[in-house]
Amino acid sequence: MAKIVDRIKGHEKNIKHLNASLSSESLAPAYLFVGLPGIGKQLVAKHMAQSLACETANIACGQCGSCIRIEKGQSEALLEIKPQSSMIKIESAQKIIQFLSLRSLSRGRTVIVHDAHKMNQQTANALLKSVEEPPEHSHFIFVTSQVGMILPTIRSRSQQVHFSPLSIDELKAIAPKAPEWALYSSQGRMDIVQQLLNEGESHQRSDFINMFFSIMHPQGNINSMKDWLGDKENTQKLLETWQQLTRDLLFVKKNLQPLIHRDQVEQFQNYRSLDEQNLNGFFWGLSRILKDMEFNVDRLLSLEDLVADFRNNDLREI
Ligand SMILES: [Zn+2]
Repeated sequence: MAKIVDRIKGHEKNIKHLNASLSSESLAPAYLFVGLPGIGKQLVAKHMAQSLACETANIACGQCGSCIRIEKGQSEALLEIKPQSSMIKIESAQKIIQFLSLRSLSRGRTVIVHDAHKMNQQTANALLKSVEEPPEHSHFIFVTSQVGMILPTIRSRSQQVHFSPLSIDELKAIAPKAPEWALYSSQGRMDIVQQLLNEGESHQRSDFINMFFSIMHPQGNINSMKDWLGDKENTQKLLETWQQLTRDLLFVKKNLQPLIHRDQVEQFQNYRSLDEQNLNGFFWGLSRILKDMEFNVDRLLSLEDLVADFRNNDLREI
C-alpha cells in the first residue's frame, strides 16, 4: 500500500478539502495543521507531500517512483524538520532555505515542520520570507498540538486546518485488538492507546486505580501518597486517570454510559453512595491542579489538601 492516504483513519472533511485544493492546484503557500498529538496530522501532511511530488496525478497515485520514495522517506521532494533538544533552532531555518534554493527535480516540494510551536523567534524570523513567498511549487506544512504557542508571524501567514480527535470506531479500525477501556481513556489519541497497552503502563494504570479507590474508601491507606507521585509526566497521568475514574463514578451514580474504565464497573458499584457534590469538587480540584502543572507550578501540596478535603467532606454512611 503505497498511497499514504489509505493509512489515514478519520479526517475525511480535511482530506476532501485539501484534495480539492491539490486537484485545482490552488494550495496555500503554508498550512498550519492543528490538533491533539497522535491523531494523524503527520500522515495527512505526508499525503500532501506525496501528492505534490507525484509524477502522474495531482493526488498521489501511490505507484510512481516519486510516490514510493516519499513513502519510504527517501525523497528529495520532502524536507522534514523536527525539534532538537526540544527546540527548532536557526540551523533548521538555514536547512530549509538551502532546500528551497536547490533546483527542484520533482513536480512539487514540501517542507513539514513537526512540533512547529517549538520554533524560536530567530528561526521563525529567518523563515518569514520563504513562508510568505515560497519558490514555485513549494509548500510549507507546520504541524502543532499547541496552536497558542505558534508565533503570530507564522500563524498569520498560514492557512489553519483543525484536526479532531479520533472517534472510538476510528481508533478501533487502527487498533482492533485494543481493549475498550484503552480506547475510551485515550481522548481519541492513538499515541495514548499505544502507551496504555505497553506492559509498564498497564501496571501503572492498576496502581493508579488502586490509589484512587484507597482515597475513596474511608479506611483506605493514603499515608504513602507522596511516594505515588513520580515526575511531572507521571503525576499528570495519575491526575488524568483519577479524573476519568471520578467522572466514571459520577456516571455510575446516575446510570449513565459510556464508562471509560468499564473494566472497573464492579468496584464503582461499591462506591455509589459517595456524595455527588463532593465528587464534583474532587473532579474540579484535579482539573485545577492539572492546569497549574502546565505552568510548572508544583501542586503537590494542593493535591494533598484536595484529598484531605475530599475525605473530610465525606458524607456517606458505611
Ligand atoms: Zn505518484
